[in-house]
Amino acid sequence: MGTLFVVDIDGTLIKGSGGSSSLALIDCVRGLYGVEGPINVETVGRTDKAIFAQIIDMYGGTLEELEKAYLRALELYWSRTPNPLLPGAREFLSKCQELGHRLSLGTGNMERAARLKLEYHGLNCFFPVGGFGEVSEDRAEVIRWAILEAKRHYEQDFATIWVVGDAPLDIEAAKANEVKAAIVSTGWYTREQLLEYEPDLLCPDLHALAEVLF
Ligand SMILES: [Mg+2]
Repeated sequence: MGTLFVVDIDGTLIKGSGGSSSLALIDCVRGLYGVEGPINVETVGRTDKAIFAQIIDMYGGTLEELEKAYLRALELYWSRTPNPLLPGAREFLSKCQELGHRLSLGTGNMERAARLKLEYHGLNCFFPVGGFGEVSEDRAEVIRWAILEAKRHYEQDFATIWVVGDAPLDIEAAKANEVKAAIVSTGWYTREQLLEYEPDLLCPDLHALAEVLF
């Protein structure tokens, strides 16, 4: 029985708010629906499935065309300027691997978007499995899937499971799955805001988290 880390991408491994990810979404909504400027949709910590459902509610269209346009825009923007890696991200993953801990992705991104973002930083090799944004609008379900997939892939159970994320929804998803939440304040939320949700660990970044955990 080992330890599993279920790791979020945006705001945790890679800078999440703003940058090429937001531009890609704005660009694809402009291209599909002719909407100019930022769109009034909350994205932080939410799954792509939930975000896309809200956009379709607001502007119409089909999920298929929206997903396709978003992936195309994401690829275009990221090929020019990928959102940067956050402090300690690669070291945290390497350390997990070195210590024999298991890794699974737990992200609101749909799998192709997640893999594209990680590819630009050479991080896909750390994550043979994961739970992704197409699983559910509910992040707790995505995390449940990430854990199940890890158990299946690694053919083992885990004594300890951590959700590593940056948002209140990550903490709530961890609690819903009765696992621990290790949170970094490199995303949209401040330390004070995150403390209100009572994570098991709260650190300024993954470098600090690695020092506490390992
Ligand atoms: Mg996040």
